Amino acid sequence: MSSLNPEQVNALLANAGRGSTVYLVGIGGCGVSGLAHLLLDAGRRVVGSDLVENEEIRQLRARGAEIHLGHQAEQLRAAAPVLVVYSPAVRADNPELEAAQKLKIPIVRRAILLAALVNRQHGICVAGMHGKTTTSALLAYALEKLGEKPSYAIGALVPQLATHARASQHDQDWFVAEADESDGTLREFRPAHSIVLNVDDEHLDYFTDVQAVCREFEQFVANTRETVVFCADDSRVAEMMTKRPGAVSYGFSSLAQYRIESKVQGPGSKVGNTPAPTFHVSRFTLWHRGEKLGDFSIRLVGEKNISNATAVIALLHQLGYPPSAIDDAIANFTGAARRQQELFADEDFRVFDDYGHHPNEVRATLRAFKDLNPGRLVVVFQPHRYTRTRHLMNDFAESFGDADKLFLTEVYAASETEIAGANSAVLADAIRARGQAVDYVPELKNVPSAVRAAMQPGDLVLFLGAGDITKAAHELARNLKSRSSTSRAPDNAMNMNDTFNKLSAAVSDGSIVRQGEPLAKRTTLRVGGKADFFVEPASESDLAAVLKLCVELKLPFTIIGRGSNLLIKDGGIRGLVISLGHESFSRVQITGEHLHCGAGAKLKTVSVEARRAGLAGLEFLEGIPGSVGGALRMNAGAMGSWMFEVVERIRFMDFSGNVHERKASEVNVEYRGCPLFKTHIALGAVLHGTPASKEVIQERANQFNAKRWETQPAQPSAGCIFKNPKAVPAGKLIDELGLKGTKRGGAMISTVHGNFIVNEGNATAKDVLELIDFVKQTAKARRGIELETEVEIIGE
Ligand SMILES: Cc1cc2nc3c(=O)[nH]c(=O)nc-3n(C[C@H](O)[C@H](O)[C@H](O)COP(=O)(O)OP(=O)(O)OC[C@H]3O[C@@H](n4cnc5c(N)ncnc54)[C@H](O)[C@@H]3O)c2cc1C
Repeated sequence: MSSLNPEQVNALLANAGRGSTVYLVGIGGCGVSGLAHLLLDAGRRVVGSDLVENEEIRQLRARGAEIHLGHQAEQLRAAAPVLVVYSPAVRADNPELEAAQKLKIPIVRRAILLAALVNRQHGICVAGMHGKTTTSALLAYALEKLGEKPSYAIGALVPQLATHARASQHDQDWFVAEADESDGTLREFRPAHSIVLNVDDEHLDYFTDVQAVCREFEQFVANTRETVVFCADDSRVAEMMTKRPGAVSYGFSSLAQYRIESKVQGPGSKVGNTPAPTFHVSRFTLWHRGEKLGDFSIRLVGEKNISNATAVIALLHQLGYPPSAIDDAIANFTGAARRQQELFADEDFRVFDDYGHHPNEVRATLRAFKDLNPGRLVVVFQPHRYTRTRHLMNDFAESFGDADKLFLTEVYAASETEIAGANSAVLADAIRARGQAVDYVPELKNVPSAVRAAMQPGDLVLFLGAGDITKAAHELARNLKSRSSTSRAPDNAMNMNDTFNKLSAAVSDGSIVRQGEPLAKRTTLRVGGKADFFVEPASESDLAAVLKLCVELKLPFTIIGRGSNLLIKDGGIRGLVISLGHESFSRVQITGEHLHCGAGAKLKTVSVEARRAGLAGLEFLEGIPGSVGGALRMNAGAMGSWMFEVVERIRFMDFSGNVHERKASEVNVEYRGCPLFKTHIALGAVLHGTPASKEVIQERANQFNAKRWETQPAQPSAGCIFKNPKAVPAGKLIDELGLKGTKRGGAMISTVHGNFIVNEGNATAKDVLELIDFVKQTAKARRGIELETEVEIIGE
């Protein structure tokens, strides 16, 4: 095959010009799909192939890449590429690679193209056997938070970054890249700065021995033009750096220039009075050359994550960023997909998915979770590659000491053929020989049911492996979710009048208590039946009293805000509906740059008051017709901003009536959601604005409003009905399907925006639900897309 180096690849691409075609074999893998994003950002035509469709492929298609399922020589010929790039998972006898060779089209490995792109910019490469995905993702995320616009290429999806690879517009920007060491291409990178995390006994299918691996890293370090940041706790790396004067060390070691001290791992908040934490925080102090640099916190657990975050802090500090700004920039990072990713949590169980596939990663991850969870740690492991399993068999057998219950499923082969004796059955025997029990479940499809059958309340279940074990993790999480949604406490056939009297007696005179309250008027869609009971408490103590009564009477309750994201069914809501619409919860008070807002305050009021006080940054809230409480629960967002960007502190109540306050940076937030408020009631928040001229703020608000009114219908609606699928925005899809204007009773798919269903005056919830069903079925049948509702459907 052709052996172009990165410089030759750059020359070839420059000659071919924008619009030229690059063909990517194995385009669905995380690394190669990242390259496809970078090429699309640079204006190239991307064509590629892979065996099965996945999320990465759907994202790329939505951006215009042409992707074939299956590998065929003819596809490659027809694309007429100037360059062919292939994934390490593709076998050498792949028909497309053979065709490219015959046609004399240059073929390069994935890492060569990545090195070519990185070497053109101010590259910052993260190298090491373990932790480079999380570290590079954190660095890219932090640089963005610090106001930079870096290019980046991360080896896994990162929920907080729109795509896992992005090319900036200017060559002088940073390019953060995860540099892979597995196939001898690490030496091709020539970054400005680098981070070296660790070197281990890995990839011995490619390298002759660990000395060869070290030589590869040494060359990479020698290629780094400016700062090298390295982990002083890794003896091989520390030894290597004796040849690199000026390299910057970090770690727990007393010799580290950036030294980690006093780490505390916290369970975050409690869910009601149950033991399940909703987030996890590690706090630590750093010393730099004998002086305290500062206190830092991250939302990831375990010494390894603290160490990796310190690598990022050290580099950013070397680049001149102040410690407090760095702390802010890293505090909210929630990790890359499959890196300690929480898939499920309720009062009984928690399920995590992690990519760990080397004994050192397994041990570190188990230790971190063991420290976190007072209950049993149930571990489900799938070895990755026969070569690794054979080489590290004994090390693996010793790695699971922290597991209270252990399952093993068969090895994930990647592209390897089976090696006799290097399988999970043999590993299971080796573990048993050490006195540890293990359940061997050979077939992955049987894993979720086997694990479910063994689970006990209080268990934390951790799925580990780099192969397709993630599917079993997701299936178990799905099963548990459906179980919890059907296990709500039933209404206890209460005596209605008696309950009404008790509710009235529990609260002060200022609170509103009603029976049979119509709810349609309390939603922006104007549909839905009645609530058995309705309370608008006048104070926090009234709210606490009502919640206690609900526990006592086993009365189910539902919190609503301004009903702008709700579709309430025609049968109404059984039990109690609580609204914080009372004026005592609806105030917005300003001190300096801070807005103290009650949960019932309208978002529009918040925006208007901020403008009056000359505080910018909250204009995006103006057109969202919800309350502060609803916006906290939904992490509402518009015009590229979202609620938790401007929230500094939150005040909330648990379902037992206890009040809590917390810094927003300590709360787990997601795209359009803050899980904490599934189990707590938001009472208020402190928002931050930035001083600016009122005219400038008004101008921005006008622009936002104009944009909204151009693109959204004026009739009653619940905003966007469906979440945007990855492939195409829901509104565009519905438009393309020709469904705009479709009616059921008094409900119609808006002719202005396909993702809105409007109430033409006399719609019922049934009409709206029928339209939703119709759209879902049509999208599935005609485009294979499963639409999910964004609007919350509640009631009977
Ligand atoms: C025309 C229109 C445009 C919209 N545009 C946008 C937009 O641009 N961006 C966007 O993000 N959304 C938009 N929405 C949706 C909606 O306005 C937001 O989701 C908003 O945050 C919901 O707030 P709410 O007070 O109406 O909450 P509700 O709809 O009443 O409730 C939503 C959820 O929040 C919970 N909740 C409410 N209050 C509390 C509380 N105090 N504590 C805990 N949980 C609580 C409820 O239980 C429910 O689960 C739009 C809606 C409409 C009708």
